Amino acid sequence: MADSKPAIFLDRDGTLIVETGYLHEPKKVELIPGAGEALRKLTEEDFELFIATNQAGIGRGYYTEEQMHAVNERVAEEFAQFGVAFRKIHFAPEAPDQPSRNRKPSPQMLLDARDEFGINLAASYMVGDKVSDIECGWNAGVNCSVLVRTGYGRKHEPQLGQAAGPLAVINSVADLPDLALGQAK
Ligand SMILES: [Mg+2]
Repeated sequence: MADSKPAIFLDRDGTLIVETGYLHEPKKVELIPGAGEALRKLTEEDFELFIATNQAGIGRGYYTEEQMHAVNERVAEEFAQFGVAFRKIHFAPEAPDQPSRNRKPSPQMLLDARDEFGINLAASYMVGDKVSDIECGWNAGVNCSVLVRTGYGRKHEPQLGQAAGPLAVINSVADLPDLALGQAK
């Protein structure tokens, strides 16, 4: 599609907001420092923004889908203060041992965004703090998967020593504009 747009797909916990372990209380939502400003810059450069989040806590019975939506709404409100809007929040509610259409490293949430919004995946990025985020991006054929060192990132970084696809590692999502806009030029 000649007119298709690039996107940034973002993991939620540990990437956009501070990882607190099965977060389900909106009042505990805390943005990673610099995340709002960073996404604002990317929006201004015409990247579409999506959240793609595994929420195994639902499948495990730790919290409900409604509680997750409440947290997502708080996340959206926090970013709206920076003039940032997400096109859509895709989620996978299953536990790892349950059959799942969407659960990362499946590329399905990215493929759905491509089909619904005409996203050019080959010009897009998948950003997250776990190996499953990185593999999700590769499975979807994105331009580059990006590991952040926030959340579980530092712990997962050594497992990506022999990268099977295009990979960048940054300290946090705050560094994403330098990477994505630098490559776009
Ligand atoms: Mg995460």
